[in-house]
Amino acid sequence: MEVMRWDAQALNPAPGEHDPDGSGKGGSGSAAGAPAAVPLLPLAGLVRSVSTPEFAGVTFHEVTAKSVLNKVAAGSRMPFEWTVNPYRGCSHACVYCFARKSHTYLDFDAGLDFDSQVVVKINAADVLRKELAKPSWGRQHVALGTNTDPYQRAEGRYRLMPGIIGALADSGTPLSILTKGTLLARDIPLLKHAASQVPVGIGISLAMTDEQLSEAIEPGTPGPRARLKLISRLRDAGLPCGVMAMPILPWLSDSDEALDSLFGSLAAAGATGVTAGALYLKPGTREWFMQWIAARHPELAGRYRRLYGTGSYASKEYRAWLAGRVRYFKARHGFAGSHGFSHRDVDDPRGEEAAYPEGSLPPAGAGAAASAQASQPTLF
Ligand code: SF4
Repeated sequence: MEVMRWDAQALNPAPGEHDPDGSGKGGSGSAAGAPAAVPLLPLAGLVRSVSTPEFAGVTFHEVTAKSVLNKVAAGSRMPFEWTVNPYRGCSHACVYCFARKSHTYLDFDAGLDFDSQVVVKINAADVLRKELAKPSWGRQHVALGTNTDPYQRAEGRYRLMPGIIGALADSGTPLSILTKGTLLARDIPLLKHAASQVPVGIGISLAMTDEQLSEAIEPGTPGPRARLKLISRLRDAGLPCGVMAMPILPWLSDSDEALDSLFGSLAAAGATGVTAGALYLKPGTREWFMQWIAARHPELAGRYRRLYGTGSYASKEYRAWLAGRVRYFKARHGFAGSHGFSHRDVDDPRGEEAAYPEGSLPPAGAGAAASAQASQPTLF
């Protein structure tokens, strides 16, 4: 296991560590300006909880995990059987994040706690290496980034991914990574080496080019321009890079101008394929998202309620409309028939356009940028 970080900022040191006032809140306490976060525990395997000015407002709960190789539940529609998630919670803080509810299993809430109470499996690489060494391990594909982002900001300090990638590749296990984190660039040499040992898939999640919208709805992520640069760097390094363009947000990022900009930018960056689909609002996410819409775009709150009804999906009519637009702009920018990435962010990993076969909608012809808006369903 690596040396602990931020020892001086530990909030609840492990037994035997320096704790001058016996408060359990660490020798030096949280650093000046850092919130005095108190872990909402018990949390299995907790070593300590840490906050630091570098990550203002975020508390990291360092745990030792007994197992990190997770088997996907039987009956899941996901196209992979095994996952590794070194972090729980995600400081990228996407309002629409579908994984929010999973934080409630740890007795955190699905809103602000998901963004700010991050569980770090500090021994992930060591445990994984042991699990992969078992004779029973079948070397099936392992997906990373299925629940939270493995290249969220904390990875810059904890550096869990190099050990995880190395353990998977050395054991002959194919892997795929989906992320919004430009920190992945740090590991490009390692990923290139891994790709010489096993099949490696890399996907970048990017569904808008509007920097302001991204800042508002994905406040902890590197912005669209930074992610486009990452795609180019991966391609320049000779690695494949698909894109998960989800979620497309009704009335916020689904205009023809927005879609044209998105697919055009992805093509210019060299993305090898794109999968796109509409916002999906599962319970836990829905409440958080609707609060955000009501606060930031009150004029859209009623329209979103009507569009989603009491369910998780936009109306079938909207999804069909969006699928047609996505197909058109994909074709326009050379992605016709391409498939970008196949895991997470939606329950249907194929994306919306795959659910509506070619020809099921009136084709969008030249000048669609002007005409498509007129054809958008107006029932919601
Ligand atoms: S980067 Fe992914 S895991 Fe993290 S908050 Fe955003 S959608 Fe959720």
